[in-house]
Amino acid sequence: MPNKIKKTYKFAIKTSLYITLFLTLVMGFFLYAFYTFKILPILLFSIICYLGCFAVIQFRVERFIYRRVKKIYDDLTLLESTSLRKKPINTDMATLTQEIDKYARDKKIEIETLQVREEYRKEFLGNVSHELKTPLFTVQGYILTLLDGAIDDKNIREKYLDRASKGVERLIYIVNDLDMITKLEVGDLSLKIEKFDIVELISNVFEMFEMKAAKKRITLTFDTDYKKPIYVKADQERIQQVLTNLIVNSIKYGHDKGTTEVSIENLIKNKIIVRVTDNGEGITQNHIPRLFERFYRVDKSGSRKEGGSGLGLAIVKHIIEAHDEKIYIESDFGVGSEFSFTLEKAK
Ligand code: ADP
Repeated sequence: MPNKIKKTYKFAIKTSLYITLFLTLVMGFFLYAFYTFKILPILLFSIICYLGCFAVIQFRVERFIYRRVKKIYDDLTLLESTSLRKKPINTDMATLTQEIDKYARDKKIEIETLQVREEYRKEFLGNVSHELKTPLFTVQGYILTLLDGAIDDKNIREKYLDRASKGVERLIYIVNDLDMITKLEVGDLSLKIEKFDIVELISNVFEMFEMKAAKKRITLTFDTDYKKPIYVKADQERIQQVLTNLIVNSIKYGHDKGTTEVSIENLIKNKIIVRVTDNGEGITQNHIPRLFERFYRVDKSGSRKEGGSGLGLAIVKHIIEAHDEKIYIESDFGVGSEFSFTLEKAK
């Protein structure tokens, strides 16, 4: 639909005035020089001149400038300028300049956002292939060696098959993490909110990782003895994933004979906060703002050795934010780290 033009007369009024003044002065001068100077004909002349000028100028402006301004608006509307459509347009150049300026700035921001997203996509693909390459080549290496003859030696065969299997396990682990983060990022993961006892869930996670912790002689413990259940409203499976990732990290980055302590505190009327605290290696402050990014690692080689995908904390953040809750981190390098998140209490 073509835009409607809002008329302004300012330009014609002023221009006619200048022309009239000029012509009246010239006329006055000639009358004075060659005839007798009379005020009435001059006044009459100036009024007629002014009205004539005004009509011609306004007509020309409407045809010439208005049409061009209108074309600019229409062209911009073609380029999907919804903001321009909403307002009545006018021929006031200041407004037009302002609107075009705003339009250009909006487009610039849009382009920059797309560029950032494109960078992010490229980086993500690069990271994914990098993560998958290492275990894939390991598996390939063992299988090729077996095919080359190692298969005939019973001892080597078992050892290599076992290593190849570990490589496949690692691939599955990374692919599962990737699958989950993709689902979380596209908002494809619907939460199954239910009421459950968070104390029991934490105890189950402790049990699951008792062996892993024992290998590093790390103790998994509550800060006090929670005798009564504490009920919360959340997606139990996802919160178990959050606790798993945080507790596994506290073991991975914990010191030998260290401790991982979990506490549950009342925060406000309907919220609790769960804290997972360790006395492990800790994280320097400069890394903290980027810690929840996908594939971000403090110590690249160390983390990979520990078998992480670099996605653990990104998944944790997504799950907590999908619940409309908050996650916090406090850490001192060499002292330890505390990851905490809020949950809604259930009656
Ligand atoms: P990863 O799979 O590498 O463990 P995460 O997303 O779980 O990936 O963690 C990102 C990085 O944060 C880790 O590489 C590690 O450097 C750091 N980190 C996470 N948890 C802890 C912790 N409890 N103590 C010290 N560093 C940690």
